[in-house]
Amino acid sequence: MWTASANKKRNNYLGGIILNIQLVKGTKDLYGSEVLLWQQLEKNIRKLCATFGIGEMRTPMFEFTELFARGVGETTDIVQKEMYTFTDDGNRSLTLRPEGTAGTVRAYIEHGMHNQPQPTKLYYISPTFRCENTQAGRQRQFHQFGVEMFGSYSPAQDAEAISVATTFLEQLGVKNVELRINSLGCTECRNRYNEKLKQFISSHLDSLCDTCKQRYLKNPLRVLDCKEQGCQNVIAQAPSVLECLDEECTAHFEKVQAILKEMGIAFTIDTKIVRGLDYYTRTVFEFVSDGLTVCGGGRYDKLVEECGGKPTGAVGFGMGMERLIMILQKQYGESELKNDTAIYIGAMGEKGLIQSQALTLQLRKQGIHAECDTVERSVKAQMKYANKINAHYSVIIGNTEIEQNQIELKNMKEGTKENIVLSDLIDVIKQRV
Ligand code: ATP
Ligand code: MG
Repeated sequence: MWTASANKKRNNYLGGIILNIQLVKGTKDLYGSEVLLWQQLEKNIRKLCATFGIGEMRTPMFEFTELFARGVGETTDIVQKEMYTFTDDGNRSLTLRPEGTAGTVRAYIEHGMHNQPQPTKLYYISPTFRCENTQAGRQRQFHQFGVEMFGSYSPAQDAEAISVATTFLEQLGVKNVELRINSLGCTECRNRYNEKLKQFISSHLDSLCDTCKQRYLKNPLRVLDCKEQGCQNVIAQAPSVLECLDEECTAHFEKVQAILKEMGIAFTIDTKIVRGLDYYTRTVFEFVSDGLTVCGGGRYDKLVEECGGKPTGAVGFGMGMERLIMILQKQYGESELKNDTAIYIGAMGEKGLIQSQALTLQLRKQGIHAECDTVERSVKAQMKYANKINAHYSVIIGNTEIEQNQIELKNMKEGTKENIVLSDLIDVIKQRV
C-alpha cells in the first residue's frame, strides 16, 4: 500500500501531477508467499474434486443482470444492495458475478448437460464481486470455491455435497469446524412457514431495520438472515421452520442426517439458518470455524426450472477462500511457503556469464529450478543473492573453471563444498534434487 510520504514522492516524480491510483477498496493484490498458499489450496481443491468425480466449470465473469436478479432473488441483500451492475454499449444490463450458482445453472441448461449421465458434478474457483461494507473477511472482490451437483433429489446427494466440504476442511487441518444444518422444506412447506413468520414478525415490526420492514411481507425469510442486531433479537424468538415441514420433507431431512452420521460427519441442527440466497429448498447448511462462516450451501430444486431448464434436483455450496485463509492464518500463523531454488549458477567474467545462462536453461528444461546472474553483479553480491533466494546449491563459473573443466559445488544448506567436473554439473544436480 502507498503511504502518504510514498505518494508525495511519487507525485514529485511525476512533475507535480497529482496521480493517486491505489487499489480499489475491498480488493487485494496477491503475491509472494500468499500467492503460493493460494496455489497450494487450488491444487488441493483440484485433487479433491478429482477424487469426488467433480469436473471444473469456468463461466464468464459477467452475465445478464436478469440471471442474478431472478436466480438469486429480488429481495436478497445481494440483489438489492451488493451487485456491480453496468450497461454496455448495446444498452444491455450486465452484472459481475456475485455468486457462482446462477451462472453454473445457466451453463448446465445451455449445454444440455442433463443429457449426460446424472448427476452432473461441477466445481469452480472464481473471483466473486459484491459491493459490501468492507471489513476483515468481507471484501468487494473475493473468491469462492464452489461445488454444484445436478440431477438428483435424493438426500444422498446432499450428503455427498456436504462431504466434499468436510473432507476439504479436514484435509487442510482447519480446527473447530462446526457444520450447522437446517431444512427449509419444499415450496409448500416454505409458504406455510412464511405465513407463520409474517404473523410473528408483524407483532415486532418496531425493532426491525428499514430494509426488513419493507421486505418482510414479500420475503420474511430474509429477516432471519439479516445482520442488523435489532432483527437478530427479534428472530431469536421466531418459530422453527422444522415445525412446518410436511412428512416428505421431514423424511428427506432425517435421511440426510442418517447418512451424515454414518459418514462420521458431525453436525448440529440450527433452525435459524436460511442462507442469503432465495433459491434454497430443503437442506441448507453452513460451516463455521472460530465464529467465521467459511462455507454456505444447500439444495435448490427449483432453480434450474426457473432459469428455463427441465425440473432438476440440485445441491451445492460456496466456500469463501479469503475467509478460509484468514482461519488458517489465525490457527497456524502466516504462510511461510517459499519457492526454493535448487541451484544458483553464478558467474565471473564474460565467458562464465554466457555459459551460466545456458546451463541454467538446461536445468530448467528438465524441471529443476535454477537461477543465474542476469544483472551482472559482483561475485560477492551474487552469493548474497543466492542466499536470499534460498538456493540449495551454488557454483561460480569463471575462466579457470571452464579451462580446467572443474568446479566447486557448494551446499548452501549444509555449508559443505566439493569439487566436481563442470560438464557433469547437470547430471550431479539432477541426481540430488
Ligand atoms: P455472509 O453471511 O457472511 O454475508 P453470505 O450468506 O453472503 O455470507 P454466501 O453467499 O453463502 O455468503 O457465500 C458463501 C461464502 O462466501 C460465505 O460463507 C463466505 O465465506 C464467503 N463470502 C461471502 N461474501 C463475502 C465477502 N464479501 N468477502 C469475502 N468472502 C465472502
Ligand atoms: Mg453476505
